[in-house]
Amino acid sequence: MKKIALLTSGGDAPGMNAAIRAVVRTSIYYGVEVVGVRRGYTGLIEKDFLPLNLGSVADIIQRGGTILLTARCDEFYKEEGRAKALVNIKEEGIEGLIAIGGDGTFRGALELEKAGVPVIGIPGTIDNDIPCTSATIGFDTVVNTVLDAINKIRDTATSHERIFVIEVMGRKSGFIALEAGLAGGAESIMIPEFPLKVDDIINNIQRGLNRGKKHSIILIAEGAADAREVTKEISEKTGLETRLSILGYIQRGGMPSAQDRLLASRMGAEAVNLLLRGERKRMLALDGEQIRNFDLDWAINQSKTVSLEDLRLAGMLSI
Ligand code: ADP
Repeated sequence: MKKIALLTSGGDAPGMNAAIRAVVRTSIYYGVEVVGVRRGYTGLIEKDFLPLNLGSVADIIQRGGTILLTARCDEFYKEEGRAKALVNIKEEGIEGLIAIGGDGTFRGALELEKAGVPVIGIPGTIDNDIPCTSATIGFDTVVNTVLDAINKIRDTATSHERIFVIEVMGRKSGFIALEAGLAGGAESIMIPEFPLKVDDIINNIQRGLNRGKKHSIILIAEGAADAREVTKEISEKTGLETRLSILGYIQRGGMPSAQDRLLASRMGAEAVNLLLRGERKRMLALDGEQIRNFDLDWAINQSKTVSLEDLRLAGMLSI
C-alpha cells in the first residue's frame, strides 16, 4: 500500500487531532503517503484533498476539534454521491481509508468498503455510544469538562442552598451524564435509557434536605427529558429555588485529556498497521488496556448500554 486517505466525520471530539497525528506519522514512518480529506465525506465528493506531511500535524496533539474539519454530508447517503467519491478515490490513487468518527461515519465507510475500498474505523465521538469498545476518543475529555462544571456549580449551589439542574449532551445515550454524575456526586441522574420520574428526583431532594444537605445537583442528559420542564416542576412542587444550567457547546471542545490522547495515538497507529498488514473493514476498540479490532460491520451492529450498576451506585452514594 502506497497511499492512504484519512478523514474525520460526524461530530468533532477532543483527541481527533491526536489520532490524525498518529495516523500521519505512522504512515510516513513506514513510507506510506497520506492524504487528508477535508470535511468528511463532503471532501471525498468534492475532491478536497490535502497532502499531509510530518509538519502538517505538528503542534496539534493538544488541540480539540479536528484540523481536517468535519461535516455531515447528505449527498453521501445517495448512490450518486458515493459514485463521485469513488471516482476521486481512484483518480487520487488512494488504496485505503481511515475514518475517524461515530456510528454514521462507519456506516458511510462500509458503503465504500462494499465498493472495494479497504476501510478502517477509529471510534471518535464524545458520546461513547460505539459498541465493542469501552471508550471512544473524546469521551474522557467531555466527562472531565462536565465534572469541572459540576464542581463550579456545586460551589454556588452550596453557598445559596439551591437546587441545580444541569443539562449535558447525550441525545440517545446517557454515558456522559452517568459517568460525570457518578464522579461528581450528583443527587439524581436522568438518562434516556432510564428516565427517572420527576417525583423520584423530588424524593431524593427531600431525603437530602431532611438530613441537612444544603444543595442538590441533578444531571440530565439532553435526550432524557426537557430540562426546562423538569426544573419548573421541581421548583413548583418543592417551593425551593431551582436553577437550570445548560452546558451546551462548551462540552465538545477543549484540550484532550491524557487518556484521550493516549487512546488516539494508539488507535491511530494501529489503524495504519492494520491497513499495511492487508486487513480491511476493521474497527479499533479498547478492551481493558488492550487495543483490539473487530469486523466493522459486525461491531457497529452489536449493542452497548450504560451500566445500570453504576446508575444504582450513583443513587446509593448520594443518599
Ligand atoms: P457520526 O459519525 O458522529 O455518527 P453522522 O451520523 O452525522 O455522525 O454521520 C456522519 C456522516 O456519515 C453523514 O453525514 C453521512 O455523510 C455519512 N453516513 C452516515 N450514515 C450513512 C449511511 N448509512 N450511508 C452512507 N453514508 C452515511
